[in-house]
Amino acid sequence: MFDKILIANRGEIALRVIRACREMGIKSVAVHSTADSDAMHVRMADESVCIGPPSGAQSYLSIPAIISACEITGAQAIHPGYGFLSENANFVQIVEDHGLKFIGPSAKHISQMGDKITAKDTAHALGIPCVPGSPGGVPDVATAKKVAADMGYPVIIKATAGGGGRGMKVAATAADLEVAFSTARSEAKAAFGNDEVYMEKYLQKPRHIEIQVFGDGQGNGVHLGERDCSLQRRHQKVFEEAPGPCITPQERAKIGKTCADAIAKMGYAGAGTVEFLYEDGEFYFIEMNTRLQVEHPVTEAIFGVDLVREQIRVAAGHPLSFAQDDLEINGHSIEVRINAERLPNFAPCPGKITAFHAPGGLGVRMDSALYDGYSIPPYYDSLIGKLIVHGRDRQEAIARLHRALGELIVDGVDTTVPLFHALLQEPDIHSGEYNIHWLERWLETNLQA
Ligand code: ADP
Repeated sequence: MFDKILIANRGEIALRVIRACREMGIKSVAVHSTADSDAMHVRMADESVCIGPPSGAQSYLSIPAIISACEITGAQAIHPGYGFLSENANFVQIVEDHGLKFIGPSAKHISQMGDKITAKDTAHALGIPCVPGSPGGVPDVATAKKVAADMGYPVIIKATAGGGGRGMKVAATAADLEVAFSTARSEAKAAFGNDEVYMEKYLQKPRHIEIQVFGDGQGNGVHLGERDCSLQRRHQKVFEEAPGPCITPQERAKIGKTCADAIAKMGYAGAGTVEFLYEDGEFYFIEMNTRLQVEHPVTEAIFGVDLVREQIRVAAGHPLSFAQDDLEINGHSIEVRINAERLPNFAPCPGKITAFHAPGGLGVRMDSALYDGYSIPPYYDSLIGKLIVHGRDRQEAIARLHRALGELIVDGVDTTVPLFHALLQEPDIHSGEYNIHWLERWLETNLQA
């Protein structure tokens, strides 16, 4: 096992990893920008190294600075968290070239899944059902028109290098296609430096269902059920739950086994998420994330496993500590993402926290790096905390979420907490009747600017 791990991240996810390290008797090294000298992850780690100025590009994304921090502190492995360098195959290669261990899958598996066309081809070859779409990249509008005519409208144009919901455009009819195609391409170029796009049939009322998988690269692969992340704003998740309210045990066992077998066959090592759209009882693969997800705690809650601990063990060469038969669902869990944002426009709202109180009690987990007097810097993502609840069933989880949100105090900045109070008044949320478009429509009618 490793003696010391460096965490190449910040905020709540850095704390999450530090906590796992501490329970395993492993020393932790935090890295931070000059804007984060006072951040909680720096205070909580055993050691810390300043790696650059505020801009993420010059600090949390600076590969030379992170490798140097490992060398200075003697850290043997790097946990990337999510975002930043977590899905950067080039980084993984450099880490390995320096004799360090990356806590995550191989560079090969990351690049295979990072390019969405290759990912779909790989998934298809492994027997995973995919969204109907173009066979590869779509080079020009003329080809796009032909693909759309064959497939039928509406269609969605997506960046091959995409992520974070960017570079995606929907065309409802042939008349929209030209503009949608060129906008998607220019957004892709601006966001990812790669203007290649591909096309898919646009599903009209799907749910976003993702399967948590784990492999050890030694022939073992398991699944830990699904998460329903259909409540999204601008293709970004805001409320996640497990198990999915509409998934039957039979469906779970079948799609879960397909995914678990696929990653065992790939020789995949570490945590991964296979994302699907789900409509009328059918699953359609959209992408695979080769890292820990923001919403991993809902899976931890219902299975009673520590996914970060398992990531560290697998990276150190251990086989999986659980087999499929050991994994049993217990109750229901919901996570809400709390952002420092001002409603109704969700404008980022950094600033000083004048009072902070985290909720507690049975079945409540608050993953946050906030503290009284902390100043949220303006340079990074606006996620400031995740409130996760666990109950014996969905109804109890919802009641607990309601209770816990009532206890939470975050003063000094605006947050998305009022959104969740309002959502908990909605009958559709109580009955679980929502799809990926539900929240956008609700926001249009209920949160007019
Ligand atoms: P990203 O990597 O940018 O997050 P994804 O491919 O995971 O992109 O898609 C993000 C979200 O976009 C999905 O959860 C869904 O809401 C929407 N989406 C993607 N593909 C389709 C599709 N074919 N039909 C309808 N919605 C889609």
